Amino acid sequence: MVGGGVRDLLLGREPKDFDVATDATPEDVKHVFRNCRLIGRRFRLAHVHFGREIIEVATFRAGHETTSNHAKLDDKSGMLLRDNVYGTIEEDAMRRDFTVNALYYNIEDFSVVDFADGLKDLQAGVLRLLGDPEQRYREDPVRMLRAARFAAKLGFTINPACEKPLLENGDLLDGVPAARLFDELLKLFLGGSALHSFEKLRHFDLFRHLFPETDECLAHEEQGFPITFVTRGLENTDTRICEEKPVTPAFLFAVLLWEPARLRAQKLEAKGESKHDAMMEAGSAAISQQVSRVAIPKRFSLQMREIWNMQHRLEQRGKRALRLLEHPRFRAAYDFLLLRAESGEIDMPLAEWWTLMQEVSEDERVKMAIATGAGGKKRRRRKPRKHSSAE
Ligand code: ATP
Ligand code: MG
Repeated sequence: MVGGGVRDLLLGREPKDFDVATDATPEDVKHVFRNCRLIGRRFRLAHVHFGREIIEVATFRAGHETTSNHAKLDDKSGMLLRDNVYGTIEEDAMRRDFTVNALYYNIEDFSVVDFADGLKDLQAGVLRLLGDPEQRYREDPVRMLRAARFAAKLGFTINPACEKPLLENGDLLDGVPAARLFDELLKLFLGGSALHSFEKLRHFDLFRHLFPETDECLAHEEQGFPITFVTRGLENTDTRICEEKPVTPAFLFAVLLWEPARLRAQKLEAKGESKHDAMMEAGSAAISQQVSRVAIPKRFSLQMREIWNMQHRLEQRGKRALRLLEHPRFRAAYDFLLLRAESGEIDMPLAEWWTLMQEVSEDERVKMAIATGAGGKKRRRRKPRKHSSAE
């Protein structure tokens, strides 16, 4: 066993999953386990299924250019292009990212095998890259995000030599495929330490390379509002994970991109577009800007837009409120509204009204809807007259 499983067990934490490394080839592994599937094109791995669990079994791999000449690096960026050659356990250890991730638990004699002084760093709570830090970040810039993630999750410090290049090399992330960044962001923000991860990313100036428009909005914040919205949203995600409640990438990304979407919608409304059209257009623009950096699968971006598009409808209330309650995305949209109220963007009584709507009897609910609907109707009737007299 290797990697996070060993690290977390030694720290007395519950491992998220178990990774196994072996000198057996994937084909050998398939021979031993009936319930085994071979996956991966770049590097073949064996997935051994035990009920709903999957144990990933990787053959020892060489790949770090200082220990082998098998790896191929891009001449310009130094990024690792190919590392798909089998190797010895020592080579396998050296291509791993941090010393604390390069510990092996040998089930033959129940010993921990440590080629890189990982145990010492584990005890000291230090993240230290194997090899030359800047070179290792260049080979695979996602390691910068992993540094931030493990520092947040484990409360470890990053060794100074590994910390400095983090602050200087954020633009390496621009070369990482958008789909890989999406996967990595889910690990950063849906792993129970979203708030700390966000703080680390901001501290190392990496957040800007992942969410450029959001970062821009946070820099121009008025009265601390946008940042409290994002941090509350992330805190809320951490709490839900802690309570084992479901969390969705759609809600998370809706929170992270709300500020650019909202500001765009505001501008469009000022130009005379309806709330509905403004939000539709703004949402679509904010997402298409973002996906050039971080891919957001369509099924999630559709849900994000539903959450956003429901916001002005929740604000209007009236008889239509009854139908909104039935909407499959109502609960997410309501949670989102609550966050907006908590961070001071909209009035709290509005959010409280929706809380009450979900608690009262059917009859009460209809009464509440009608009571708010009357005002809405009046406004609608008055509007055209105003317009005609003005024109
Ligand atoms: P967790 O599963 O808790 O997120 P982990 O350390 O197990 O943490 P995985 O992504 O599951 O992380 O990877 C398993 C192991 O593979 C790591 O511990 C590390 O040894 C190695 N590894 C993963 N990603 C990289 C990388 N980008 N560069 C080098 N080694 C890596
Ligand atoms: Mg793991």
